[in-house]
Amino acid sequence: MRRPLIAGNWKMNTNRTGAVELAKALADGVGETAAEILVCPPFTWLGEVAAAAGSSPVQVGAQNCWHEPSGAYTGEISVDMLKDVGCDYVILGHSERRHVIGETDEMINQKAKAALAGGLKAILCVGELLEEREAEKTDEVLTTQMAGGLAGITDLSNVVIAYEPVWAIGTGKVASPEQADAAHAHLRKWVENNYTAESAAGIRILYGGSVKPDNAATLLSLENVDGALVGGASLKADLFLPIIAAAG
Ligand code: PEP
Repeated sequence: MRRPLIAGNWKMNTNRTGAVELAKALADGVGETAAEILVCPPFTWLGEVAAAAGSSPVQVGAQNCWHEPSGAYTGEISVDMLKDVGCDYVILGHSERRHVIGETDEMINQKAKAALAGGLKAILCVGELLEEREAEKTDEVLTTQMAGGLAGITDLSNVVIAYEPVWAIGTGKVASPEQADAAHAHLRKWVENNYTAESAAGIRILYGGSVKPDNAATLLSLENVDGALVGGASLKADLFLPIIAAAG
């Protein structure tokens, strides 16, 4: 019932030529797939990557946006600009934006509202730090980030959640199947308690954190895991394509 979404977050990587080559390799290599496929390159290559993806199943998303439609916001990019360049999705609240740039739940919430109002699908990232997991605060952190990020948003049909334990991002450490499924189950229960059983059954919850071809099938087979948000392994077609294939 929930169509898997395999999303690649290219972060601040690739140059123009490499980005277009990667997009073409994915568009050519993806073949028949049950999954929705998304790549999120740096802002600068969005248009060219969208053109390279062409009519293939590869969709394009941004890694961030600003919540105001236009004006004196030096260095920021609006939702309309992202739509204009061919984006379908935007990643919001990635742990690097939370913990390196300092984004708060309130800022992420403003962006989520703007993205949804402007016709983008929003991938809301949530996840605990290692010390929060060790202090057994994972559920509490996830609850706070969900309540903060989704405050005032009544319709979740264009929202995807990405559970990304911060200690697993770019570290080669991956959450165990038990850890991942427990966190995803907590998130789904939170949606059921705060929205409806139908919303909870329908919302996609991706896992992110060192997903690679050799662990993708196990993670994607978990009951509450509806896809993956992939960093490092999305930068090479020969790593990302097998992850897509693992989604069925
Ligand atoms: C990410 O950037 O969202 C991510 C999960 O990175 P990696 O797959 O490299 O851990």
